[in-house]
Amino acid sequence: MSETAHVREQRVRKRWESNNTFKQSIEKREGKQTYVFYEGPPTANGLPHAGHALGRTMKDFVARYKTMSGYQVLRKAGWDTHGLPVELEVQKQLNLKGKDDIKAYGIEAFIEKCKESVFTYEREWRHFTEALGYWVDMDDPYVTLQNPYIESVWNILSTIHRKDMLYKGHRVVPYCPNCETSLSSHEVAQGYKDVTDLSATAKFLMEGTENEYLLGWTTTPWTLPSNVAIAVNPDMTYVKVEKDEEVYVVAEALAEKLLGESPKIVAKLKGSELVGSKYDPPFDYLHLNRGHEVIGASFVTDSSGTGLVHMAPAHGDDDYQAIRESGLDFVNVVDSKGRYTEEIGPLAGRFVKDCDVDIVKMLAHNGRLFSKERYEHSYPHCWRCDSPLLYYAMEGWFIETTKVKYQLIANNQEVDWHPSHMREGRFGKFLENVVDWNIGRNRFWGTPLNVWECDSCDKQESPASIAELRERADQELGEDIELHKPFVDGITFTCECGGKMHRTSEVIDVWFDSGSMPFAQYHYPFENKELMNKQFPADVVIEGVDQTRGWFYSLLAVSTLFTGKAPYKRVLSLGHILDENGQKMSKSKGNALNPVELIEEFGADSLRWALLADSAPWNNKRFSKKTVSQTKSKVIDTLANVHSFYKMYAEIDRFNPKTVENGTATKLDEWILSRLNTVIAEVTKSLDAYDVTKGARTIASFLDEISNWYIRRSRARFWANGMDADKRAAYHTLYEVLTKTTQLMAPFAPFLSDEVYTDLAGNSVHLSDYPTANTSLVNAELEHEMDAVRQVVELTRSIRNQTSLKTKQPLAQLAVVPLKQSANLEAYRAIIAEETNVKTILLDANQHQYVSQQVKLNFPVAGPKLGKSVGLVQKMITQFGDTQTQQFLDAGKMILNLENDQIVELEKEDIILENNPLPGFEFAEGDDYLVVLDTNVTTELKEEGFVREFIRAVQVYRKELDLPVEKRVHLTINATEHVQDILTRFESFMKNHVLIDSLSFAKTDEMKYFNVEGEGVYLNIHM
Ligand SMILES: [Zn+2]
Ligand SMILES: [Zn+2]
Repeated sequence: MSETAHVREQRVRKRWESNNTFKQSIEKREGKQTYVFYEGPPTANGLPHAGHALGRTMKDFVARYKTMSGYQVLRKAGWDTHGLPVELEVQKQLNLKGKDDIKAYGIEAFIEKCKESVFTYEREWRHFTEALGYWVDMDDPYVTLQNPYIESVWNILSTIHRKDMLYKGHRVVPYCPNCETSLSSHEVAQGYKDVTDLSATAKFLMEGTENEYLLGWTTTPWTLPSNVAIAVNPDMTYVKVEKDEEVYVVAEALAEKLLGESPKIVAKLKGSELVGSKYDPPFDYLHLNRGHEVIGASFVTDSSGTGLVHMAPAHGDDDYQAIRESGLDFVNVVDSKGRYTEEIGPLAGRFVKDCDVDIVKMLAHNGRLFSKERYEHSYPHCWRCDSPLLYYAMEGWFIETTKVKYQLIANNQEVDWHPSHMREGRFGKFLENVVDWNIGRNRFWGTPLNVWECDSCDKQESPASIAELRERADQELGEDIELHKPFVDGITFTCECGGKMHRTSEVIDVWFDSGSMPFAQYHYPFENKELMNKQFPADVVIEGVDQTRGWFYSLLAVSTLFTGKAPYKRVLSLGHILDENGQKMSKSKGNALNPVELIEEFGADSLRWALLADSAPWNNKRFSKKTVSQTKSKVIDTLANVHSFYKMYAEIDRFNPKTVENGTATKLDEWILSRLNTVIAEVTKSLDAYDVTKGARTIASFLDEISNWYIRRSRARFWANGMDADKRAAYHTLYEVLTKTTQLMAPFAPFLSDEVYTDLAGNSVHLSDYPTANTSLVNAELEHEMDAVRQVVELTRSIRNQTSLKTKQPLAQLAVVPLKQSANLEAYRAIIAEETNVKTILLDANQHQYVSQQVKLNFPVAGPKLGKSVGLVQKMITQFGDTQTQQFLDAGKMILNLENDQIVELEKEDIILENNPLPGFEFAEGDDYLVVLDTNVTTELKEEGFVREFIRAVQVYRKELDLPVEKRVHLTINATEHVQDILTRFESFMKNHVLIDSLSFAKTDEMKYFNVEGEGVYLNIHM
């Protein structure tokens, strides 16, 4: 084959394009049962990598397999187009440092740039997708930035808002008051520094008492003015302790530490008894509707502090959640620059972190300081500007996913996960810990959050469609409405109170975009209602395991919120592609494989097969160029070679399966047809269970059986002159095997399988039905026998390899010793003889005639057991004869009387059985057979070996001369008398093995020199 796999695949692709094969494959299943597939949208502003190759291969595999199995599988492509990565890319391009730069540049212009950037690599994606053979409708994709898509997303958000599950709330995050931005956990980790701070234990006066105080400890005294509650653990025991005419409430376990030895305990009570108590806080700047009371929280411990925790909801995530759940007020007295607001009179305008000392002084002055302490700790600082970070409540929009938590969990229970442990494991655990979905982003490029708020009365409205927006808008909105920022921000409503309503400035989390695709891809509910219902829920979604918190979750969450139902019946969660050393691939490490380059070098069929067959797709897999190149030579090239073998002879003989009548099947034909149908059944079973790896491996080993057994053993039948019954059977059999095998392979290797199938059957394999097994052709006994024959041949070859006895060298005898229940090989004696090139085959031989068995001690096991007697035992058993050895092996144990009068019992695990061939023999042992080869080469055998090597030289020469395989020739030889003598004696043998009409010895012009087994031979071939 001079043409590369890549060139072949390009040709097949052109044929698909001009025949509209993909479209045809879908239209052909019109009215059939649907198999619903959802495409997870990639972003086209980055290049595809090896992980995408696995994902897209698996998606295409499933869709093609289901289509061939009779389903209609629509495949709508999608593009994820919004979000921060796009903004960052544009910022880099325009050299804009932050939000202020963007505003200065102009939001309208910036958004225009984002739109342009989104499809930077669309061409590369299309090329990659097509080259890989991934059939997906890229001419009519869903695109998250388009108005119909946004309108559907708005409809979903509006529905959630009307259910009162979309609310404005807070989220406590690490925050730099200098940069005025929150930091990711990754950024926080970069800036820890050791500092000395002041901690304080403050006194909270219990309501209705003169002198009873709750003691609350804090490492951030500056948060005390923001106090809203004290948290206790309802299950912990607390005590009231009297000291210096005051009474303090602390955890029982901490009383001594805080109040000295033998504290005077006046009461003991459960935390739950404290819950609900009111108190007077140390600072009285705040006037709350609900607050300054004791709440219960399970995170409170008695390992440090007082066992009572001061709660400031604006400065701790635990605090925020606990206070929200208790229904107390949220307050924040710190502005966005980290300064106290006007409410905190004496400290207003000062940076809070600088006020710890003043706060402690004020506590002392008010009689509310119990104790203070300097301590050293590691505190996070901004990695950009070095200022200390604050935990700070940022305002934001949330979807109350916690409210549907149990429905999310119940929906997940119905999903068939691959791998199955995902359901209860990684995904299930994530659902158990679900928090409200922080949906808003203070950015520019995204689906704008469709909530309008009244400036006067705080009323909210969420339009559910463009029509509703038009109706409510104070402005005239044109036909060509633009739904992105900044246009949509200019639209106002008039509130029923008379006030103006403005859109809240946020855009939404892009995961909500992609999670809405089951509905938004069809512009539901505005269009395609019937289609959407038919295409919901998905039978399968397929993405990398990293989508657990991403798309797998957002799909489930959006659908559960919107419809109450799970959006998919099945999830295939794929592992990562690692390099050959098990390292994650990355551009910066330089170990990333470029899938397009792999396709150009080895072909997409090889890449796909390697990805699917190498290991289960759910596993992280070590992957390299070598894996692909090995797959090419083992699988793809094997099919190509088998096909070109068939094609070559079928052309010579003008074989047409439709017109040539059937022949007389041989055992070999029956065998390969039996194997074919067994393989079809096994592969279908694996693939229906989504075990693609097992399916691929079953096919690969069948290909080996076709190529290295069926065709090897059938070559002479195809060479034969004329078209007898035997040859016709060979043709029909190989035709059947090849067509069905290419159908089996089609979802894995869509290009070559289509090339071969089209050549054989005249139409595309992807328009055909996946083969079903014809069980009447399965002969298990025959398969068992042939398998035994192949084992025997393989074992014999391995002996020849070890002893450097070439297969061309005939040998006298092979003894086959069955180790287990053996197949009856009588009928295969000739095949074994021919394949092994041995004159006599002895079946059911007794190994003792060729192999002596010696028993030796297994020292690691027997040594400790026998102690000092080990030497005596060793001496005794090495003298065992065959009879004793056999007795021992039969009984599984033996009692020995040692020279020193000791008696020991030996068991099987105490010994190692060593087989040694008798002189002149070599043996090899497999699972079911032991074979013994007589390695003695007599003069006669040596001469025959020479003749076989000579024949090989003739064949090499024929090939060089490019002679047609079926052409008979005249052979002239110039060689020593010795060689002439041998060749003369073997003349008829030669004529049987190579197509020679006549043989003569002479010296002529243009002779070619060959070295045959050390003898110089000159040849001339003429017709
Ligand atoms: Zn900073
Ligand atoms: Zn209003």
